[in-house]
Order: sequence, then C-alpha cells, then structure tokens
Amino acid sequence: MLAKGVLKKIEKIIGRENLLTSDEELVLYGYDATPAAEIVKPDAVALPETAEQIAELISLANRHKFPVIPRGAGTGLTGGSRPVHGGLVLSTQRMNRILAVDTENLQAIVQPGVVTEDIQQLVEGEGLFYPPDPQSKASCTIGGNLAENAGGPRAVKYGVTRQNVLALQAVLPQGQLVRIGARTLKSVVGYDMLSLLIGSEGTLGIITEATLRLLPLPPARATLLAVFDSVEAAAGAVAKTFHAGVVPSAIEFMDNASIRSVEEFEPSGLPVDAQAVLVIEVDGQPVQVKESAEKVRQVMQAQGARQVRLAANEAEAEVLWKARLSLGPSVARIAPLKVNEDIVVPLTNLPEAVSQIHAIAEKYRIKSASFGHAGDGNLHVNFLANPDDKEEVARVDQAVAELFKLAVSLNGSISGEHGIGTTKQEFLSLELSPEVIEVMKAIKRAMDPLGILNPGKIFPVRANQTSQSSPGRDGHG
Ligand SMILES: Cc1cc2nc3c(=O)[nH]c(=O)nc-3n(C[C@H](O)[C@H](O)[C@H](O)COP(=O)(O)OP(=O)(O)OC[C@H]3O[C@@H](n4cnc5c(N)ncnc54)[C@H](O)[C@@H]3O)c2cc1C
Repeated sequence: MLAKGVLKKIEKIIGRENLLTSDEELVLYGYDATPAAEIVKPDAVALPETAEQIAELISLANRHKFPVIPRGAGTGLTGGSRPVHGGLVLSTQRMNRILAVDTENLQAIVQPGVVTEDIQQLVEGEGLFYPPDPQSKASCTIGGNLAENAGGPRAVKYGVTRQNVLALQAVLPQGQLVRIGARTLKSVVGYDMLSLLIGSEGTLGIITEATLRLLPLPPARATLLAVFDSVEAAAGAVAKTFHAGVVPSAIEFMDNASIRSVEEFEPSGLPVDAQAVLVIEVDGQPVQVKESAEKVRQVMQAQGARQVRLAANEAEAEVLWKARLSLGPSVARIAPLKVNEDIVVPLTNLPEAVSQIHAIAEKYRIKSASFGHAGDGNLHVNFLANPDDKEEVARVDQAVAELFKLAVSLNGSISGEHGIGTTKQEFLSLELSPEVIEVMKAIKRAMDPLGILNPGKIFPVRANQTSQSSPGRDGHG
C-alpha cells in the first residue's frame, strides 16, 4: 500500500480529483486485453495532465521507492500495463491533445494519450497520412503504440511505429524530463535513444509528447481478395508479390477457421469453403494503382488462387477491411480462452510456418485460427480452449512453446508487435543470447537503478531484487 503521506504528496502534484483510490476505480486499471490475465489492482491511479507533473511523480517515486506503471488505453496483449507489483498506475488519458499539425514539414505533434485513429482522421482532413494502423486503432493510444512499437497491415509498406516518429519528449526513470530525436528526417547524434525508448514497454521512460512523421495521403487505392484452396499456396503468394515488383500497402492472411468465424459473427461474403484468403491493398497514384492491382491479380492466379476479386468501389473495399477488423472479436467467440501469439518469419518461410502451425494444433488437439499481417511475415496465431478445462489449457501452453521454437527455427521472432510484457518472459532466451539479455538488463539498471518504471515487465523481477532494487516495501510505506 502507498502510505497516506505519499498519497498526499501525489495529490499535491496532480490535484485531489486526479488521484483515484477507490476499489471500484482501481479494478478498472488492473487489467488489459491480455487473455485470461487476472485483475491486479494498483495501490492508486494518477491522471496527470502535463509532462512536468509526470516528472515530479517519478522523482517522488524514486524518493519513496514505489513502482509506476504507465498506461494508455489498456489494449495491450502481453500484460504491459498490468500493475503486477502494485504501485501507482500512471494513465495518460487526460493528455489526449493533438498539439500541432505542421502541414508544411509534414509533422504532427501529439500528446501520448491521443487515440491513434483520431490522429489519422485529423491529418487526413489536411490531405496527410499517418500510416501505422494497429487493428485496435479506434481505442489504443499513440503512447501505447510507441511503447510497444506497434505495427498493423500497412507496416509492410510504411514501417512500424518506429519508422513514423521523429522525436519524443519523455520522462526518464529517475525523473529527468528530456527531448530525444530531432524534428528532421535524419539525425546521427550520439546513441539512437529514440529506438531505445520505442518498444521498451514503459520500462525505460514515460513518453509525454511525440513528433510524428506524416506523408501525403495516397490519392488512390485498390483492394483485392484472393481465394485459395491451400494455406501454403496463399502464404507462398506473399513473397511472389514482391518478386513481381509490387510493394503492396497491406497483405492480410486469414485461414479457414478465421474466415468461418467472421462469417458467423459479421457476414462479409468471404468464401467459407476456402482454406485461406489474402486481402491485398495497393495504394499510390491512380495509374500506378491500376497497374499494381493487375500485377497482383496475375501473381495470385499464377500461385493457384481459385478466384481473385477486385473490390469494385470504396464500399466493397470497406466490407473486406471491416471483416479483417472484426477478426479478433470473431475468433474470440469460438472458445472463451483465446491465446493470441504474434510470431513473425521471413517471407519465404511463411508457407512452412502456416503448415507447421496447423500441425502443432493437430498434435495438441486444440482449435486454432491464424490470421495476420502476412505482408511482413507476421501471423496472429490463436490457440483456443475452455479455461475451465485445465488439461486443455496445459496443451495450449505446450502448443505455444512449440510455436515459439518454430518461429525461431525459421529465422523469425517470437513477437512481431505485441512485445514481451509478462506473458512471454520465459521464452526470451529462445531468441536472445545470455550476453544480449545481460546488456539489456544493464541498460535497465543504469537508467532505472531502483527499478521504478514498470517492474516485472520484459525481464522477471527476482525475489532478491525486489527488496533492494525494485520498488518495494519501503516504497509502499
Ligand atoms: C483487438 C486488438 C487488435 C490489436 N491489433 C494490433 C495490431 O494490429 N498491431 C499491434 O501492434 N498491436 C495490436 N494490438 C495490441 C495493442 O493494441 C497495442 O500494443 C497498442 O499499441 C497498445 O496501446 P495502448 O494505448 O492500449 O497501451 P497499453 O495497453 O495501455 O500499454 C501498453 C504498454 O505501453 C506502455 N505505455 C503506455 N503508454 C505509455 C507512455 N506514454 N509511455 C511509456 N509507456 C507507455 C504500458 O506500460 C505498457 O507496457 C491489438 C490489440 C487488440 C485488443
């Protein structure tokens, strides 16, 4: 518990009305979108409004040694914003303003609690484009996107969040308010702190402002649906698209179980007898879009697609993208426990990956549904179970472990975009050598010697660490 005296000091920084302490309120900040994760209530929740207030809160946390857990919208899938060691949840929900859109330099300056889609809609009104489009974009925040280095369908052409950010303001773990990066397209001045903070899951700093890179809004786009009778053929067609000289703005994959779940939940005219479909988008100037769409059609047909349908208009394209957006909730209806992993492999290994994923599900006798951003080799593999059936849940755990080994054996990675959080810690050493893990831990120790920021994420906090270096006992007292 945070001592009364500490709570009073927090109140003084942010105002009484912006400190939440009632049981009902604390429950709301004790979970995120991680499947089957239990609610862990924080000791209190702070709703600061300025970077300076955050810097003061972090300095206070260092003085009194209590954990601070940054939180955006809580849509994270690996437990990143869960206060697993108690302490103060720091929600950015009141810092939700778009501060400036610089149409001349193609930049937007935003606070961390702005919802991603709000940025996109505002800049599109100016003929500009912020490409990163996590499928939670209607609710997730830009701070959460930065902390997880979020991707989405368009990452295949426009990169993940990292490639679309120029500069940040952040509060470092000992309370220093700093600016890193530059409002330029390039800058090589010292270590790349921007890359260090982006994807650090709230363990190395709290992002308080971001300068985003914008592009001109592509004037035209075309969306195609390619229908396959084999998952391997669909997966194989992805690399071939690039070999044909086309860089699509999205290639999304859905297997048969995913297609059927969408059609049951939100019918969109997808062929339920297909083994897999690809939804492909190309964007750019109208002439180029027309040519690229035709090339994509030829590639899909050459790779064995039994049907390739070009959306006749924007409304038809929207139906396909809505189906894609509804995949998460649709698949969740198959079984109450949906364990959603996000492995990523090099494009030419995708056919092997999809084939092995089905083999793993069969081996462990569990239902599965796979879909995802195939254009960058990223697959959301969902293993489904009844949470009350302990034996089935144990088989899901075994399947997940085998899935991660598969990803690494195919020169891939265990997480394309959801991060490590608490849920994947035990698998870190599958991908990273002990030397690399030790360097990462040394960086954390150097920047956050008391283990204030988001303890227990990425690396487990060992019992003997909690008493001396991690937010601890005295911090709560
Ligand atoms: C239906 C659904 C679809 C999804 N689709 C995608 C997808 O396509 N691509 C993708 O990448 N992810 C996806 N996600 C995962 C999730 O939406 C992203 O990870 C998103 O970036 C989290 O943002 P958030 O605001 O909800 O952050 P939270 O869940 O609140 O926090 C996530 C992490 O960021 C840290 N954090 C939050 N704000 C800050 C800050 N200001 N400074 C420092 N650290 C901070 C937290 O401590 C935590 O570690 C999806 C999730 C759902 C539920």
